Amino acid sequence: MMAAAAHLLEMKSLTLLGSTGSIGANTLDVVRHNGHLYRVYALAAGHNVDAILQQIIEFRPEVAVLATSGGIARLAAALSDSGLPRPNWPELAFGPAALIETATAPAVDMVISAIVGVAGLEATYEAVRLGKRVGLANKEVLVSGGRLVMDAVKESGAELLPIDSEHNGVHQCLRAGNRDQVTKLILTASGGPFRNTSKHALHSVTPAQALNHPTWRMGQRITIDSATLMNKGFEVIEACWLFGFAPSQVDVVIHPQSTVHAMIEYSDGSVLAQISATDMRMPIQYALTWPERWQAPVPKIDWSQARHWDFAPPDFDRFPLLKLAYQCQEAGGSATCTLNAADEIAVEAFLKGEIPFPGIAAVVEETLSRMPNRQPRTVGDILEIDKESRSAACAIARELAGQQAAAAQPVPARV
Ligand code: NAD
Ligand code: MG
Repeated sequence: MMAAAAHLLEMKSLTLLGSTGSIGANTLDVVRHNGHLYRVYALAAGHNVDAILQQIIEFRPEVAVLATSGGIARLAAALSDSGLPRPNWPELAFGPAALIETATAPAVDMVISAIVGVAGLEATYEAVRLGKRVGLANKEVLVSGGRLVMDAVKESGAELLPIDSEHNGVHQCLRAGNRDQVTKLILTASGGPFRNTSKHALHSVTPAQALNHPTWRMGQRITIDSATLMNKGFEVIEACWLFGFAPSQVDVVIHPQSTVHAMIEYSDGSVLAQISATDMRMPIQYALTWPERWQAPVPKIDWSQARHWDFAPPDFDRFPLLKLAYQCQEAGGSATCTLNAADEIAVEAFLKGEIPFPGIAAVVEETLSRMPNRQPRTVGDILEIDKESRSAACAIARELAGQQAAAAQPVPARV
């Protein structure tokens, strides 16, 4: 379709959950470039008043949500100071109930789910239950609540469009053939900043080194998860839910250039790959415009330049969290919910300098061994398992931090 024809399409309205984060800002940039396609109905974020204020002034949503009443009070003050006339202010709201309202409001055509953590689960689930179109970036939705959410997708017929680049790549490749002739999904991983670091040297890597991702600029949690390959493990789990494959049919391959995002193998051995610049605005725009494609504000690959791309198998020994993700998905029930909750706590402890890098996997593994596996039936069950897993992981991280501190004490000199 010609770009001009887009103006003939009815403008759709968008709720953006997690507007001030990395995915949120990229989503608004896509909207900025496609002003004829979407108007922003609601923006929701955690605590960043300055960032959401600028977004409100530019995009004029009808509703703005922050995590706390204190945040909303600060936002009201900032709106007053900004000089934006009161009739142009959005309705201001806070907390989980407000997130659900903005995601399910009748006026909303599409929800972008880009809050980090289980805080994004319930609103996304309710949007899916209502049959809204959902662009999914948040990992925790499927890692913690995969069965529940996919059952709701089946029941409501909601379109769940993956924004994570690998799943978006699979989604694109699957359009080329019959789903039942696909034998394998192959997700690529950059390998993170420690791709070539020895197992021994991983004990002394710092949070600053782990936050220095070679190819992507993302939020802190996902950046550390990329360094441990936990992120890729979560993506294996998400791929199983999104596309209905067994873990044994989802392979991971290390591809440091992050340009091939995913591949699928058909039964005749033919492999299709999805290739695009390392830029999240591409998958975000794909989700916003699907099934159409429009010009995107994304660099194109310059084939006049010489290039080579590497592919190598992952090292499960140095990056045990990837293996653990496969095992949790095989185990089913609440294992993946516990995996995610424990990892979030362990990542926080690592970022605070309390545990070493390999301690992240140690805390997660120990939490899984202490938490009983059960089948969550509601979002409430998932949030409860998440909470229990966090508190178990906190205790385990504290034990490990204590052991580290004791080991670091200088041995008293003999007198
Ligand atoms: P980020 O940390 O940059 O942003 C997170 C957003 O969530 C912020 O707007 C924050 O204010 C908001 N938020 C946090 N707690 C909230 C709460 N209680 N209520 C409302 N809002 C809250 O994270 P990100 O990198 O943008 O990632 C967002 C999600 O997308 C994560 O689940 C991540 O794993 C996934 N993802 C990100 C990328 C990427 O390139 N950044 C790629 C694939 C998937
Ligand atoms: Mg990814």
